[in-house]
Amino acid sequence: MSTAPTPPVAKPLTGPQKALRKLGLNRPIDLALHLPLRYEDETQLVKLHQVREGDVAQVEGRVTHAEVKLGGQRQLMVTLDDGTGTCLLRFFTFYPALQKTLAVGSQVRVRGEIRGGFAGLTLMHPVVKPAGGELATALTPVYPSVAGLPQSYLRRAVQAGLARAELSDTVPVHFLEEIGLQRLWNMRKVLSFLHTPTPDVALAALQDHTHPAWQRLKAEELLAQQLSQLQARRARALLRAPRLAQAPGSQTLASRLLAALPFGLTQAQVRVVAEITQDMARPVPMHRLLQGDVGAGKTVVAALAAAVCMDAGWQCALMAPTEILATQHFAKLVGWLHPLGITVAWLTGSQKARERREMLALIASGQAQLVVGTHALIQDKVQFKHLALAIIDEQHRFGVAQRLALRSKMSEDASAMNLESEPATGPEPHLLMMTATPIPRTLAMSYYADLDVSTLDELPPGRTPIITKVIHEARRDEVIARISSQLAQGRQIYWVCPLIEESEALDLTNATETHAQLSAALPGVMVGLLHSRMPMAEKKTVMSLFTGGQMGVLVSTTVIEVGVDVPNASLMVIEHAERFGLSQLHQLRGRVGRGAAASACVLLYSTGDAPRLGETARARLRAMAESNDGFEIARRDLEIRGPGEFMGARQSGDAMLRFADVAEDAALLDWARRLAPLMLDQYPALAEQHVQRWLGSKAEFLKA
Ligand code: ADP
Ligand code: MG
Repeated sequence: MSTAPTPPVAKPLTGPQKALRKLGLNRPIDLALHLPLRYEDETQLVKLHQVREGDVAQVEGRVTHAEVKLGGQRQLMVTLDDGTGTCLLRFFTFYPALQKTLAVGSQVRVRGEIRGGFAGLTLMHPVVKPAGGELATALTPVYPSVAGLPQSYLRRAVQAGLARAELSDTVPVHFLEEIGLQRLWNMRKVLSFLHTPTPDVALAALQDHTHPAWQRLKAEELLAQQLSQLQARRARALLRAPRLAQAPGSQTLASRLLAALPFGLTQAQVRVVAEITQDMARPVPMHRLLQGDVGAGKTVVAALAAAVCMDAGWQCALMAPTEILATQHFAKLVGWLHPLGITVAWLTGSQKARERREMLALIASGQAQLVVGTHALIQDKVQFKHLALAIIDEQHRFGVAQRLALRSKMSEDASAMNLESEPATGPEPHLLMMTATPIPRTLAMSYYADLDVSTLDELPPGRTPIITKVIHEARRDEVIARISSQLAQGRQIYWVCPLIEESEALDLTNATETHAQLSAALPGVMVGLLHSRMPMAEKKTVMSLFTGGQMGVLVSTTVIEVGVDVPNASLMVIEHAERFGLSQLHQLRGRVGRGAAASACVLLYSTGDAPRLGETARARLRAMAESNDGFEIARRDLEIRGPGEFMGARQSGDAMLRFADVAEDAALLDWARRLAPLMLDQYPALAEQHVQRWLGSKAEFLKA
């Protein structure tokens, strides 16, 4: 009997297969480029009289003693003798099979890290095999992995990927010659070597990635990154955007705004405004990052850019990461622009339905020339009449997708407006991103090579530097006394409560307790509380009492982190400062020192049960005490955390260099930057192949 043919069914993925996906290892080339974190040397046996503490060693010998100790923690203790000496093997988890292998008299091969101690040489949980097996002929790779993906499975998958991947060389030899890597093998050989190096190489050169094969790989990776950014830049140059040229004369909106401001611009502000207006006057979308330390005055720069845009008859949108910040921008911009006849709309998540409908109508009709809001701005329902400038404040708080979404808000309607030439694709708005977290130069060159950067490197005049003190929690009472004296001088105080990421509830308890404590300690003073779980209306009331000066002390969780501007606040206390990241501490500190009064920041720290703070926490607090300069802080932050984490916090999902380190591999980065344009011009097909190989499906995403 024949059975009916069954339709082919896609097999469900096994656990390890899913794990491979999770690591982004989809194509053979992805597997081939998944390189070892480190190697283990299983190619040789050593004698116990030669090993030293700290060595990872492989030893063969005879079990002379084995017992399960029951006192304290149950453990298996085994003595091994290799004829030159003995060592102790200790296991806290073990199964009968292991005990059998390690029975007295057996010959075994063990591998692990040698430790010293009372009992002499000790190996904790070594890998155990019967003695006499064949030795490995190459170093054993250890790959970055995730739960559910055993090394043995990953090793086989990588070998299979390596065998199937297309690995012809994509970088012309004479380019490699410039960095002395020409005589090295081709890519296939480089990769097979890095996956399974022969034991005669210096392990150190492999581990610290100075080996020429690693150099070659890092060079290729950096080149891919530079190429993709250059491609993005060139692709953008083909796009069209409305020309937002400024009319000459003193009656422009921007000139009238300038005249109405209670202050004159700093030279740095004048310079960056000029850079921005030049960009916007071109029929190509601006893609510019405005970086300036906290308090440098980015908002007014944004307002002036918006004024140029609106004067040219177009709409402008300003998006901020939090509702509080959006509210504050809205208030400030209305204050500046309403008297000049501009209608400013605003959009946030917590808005009442009716108000929201009204705002949407104002935006769609074009009556609102400027729209300020949160993520609510990028929802589907929001239709602009003719958006030409999108400004994103604290841009590092937004993801790539959100930035893209705002850019795509330029409506069909707008494309019909008088553009220079017939565009191949729809027109794009100009994009201005702002950040108070400056990007160190090396990172800017590498990660933001497709971005134009303007820098506000000057603070408005009259600011007195903030004095930062690092104080142990035990001296909390002194800090509270200091608050009293500041209050007596008519100043206001921020008190920021710890960040406990795992537990919002705990965050809250802490803030509530501190609020109660300060209220009790400061009779007659209005002490407010602000936290993320409060209803928006309540948050706004608290903020406006603080902004208005009625409230003396504001206790808050980190919701005030970005952008809040209350010039009369002169003292910032950060509780459990050791739990915050460096850039976050700097941002928080930037809430004070905005007026003429001398300001201070107190970093209260606690070591918990430990005798002292950990190394990195200490480094962060020290950096804060020693510098007020955002660029210096960013540099230190990079030093403390390394580029991977530094970027991760800012650009989750964006391009990450896996192997190269922009600081360490500066010479290779220079090479890649120099070569990228030549390669795109002279070898466009190879360039494309190279980018695909390294970035694959991510390449499109990176163009945002
Ligand atoms: P940030 O760059 O952190 O966003 P803001 O735009 O909030 O800084 O500006 C900080 C404060 O400095 C605001 O009160 C702002 O009005 C004020 N300010 C901005 N530019 C100047 C200037 N040129 N002179 C004096 N004060 C200024
Ligand atoms: Mg700001």
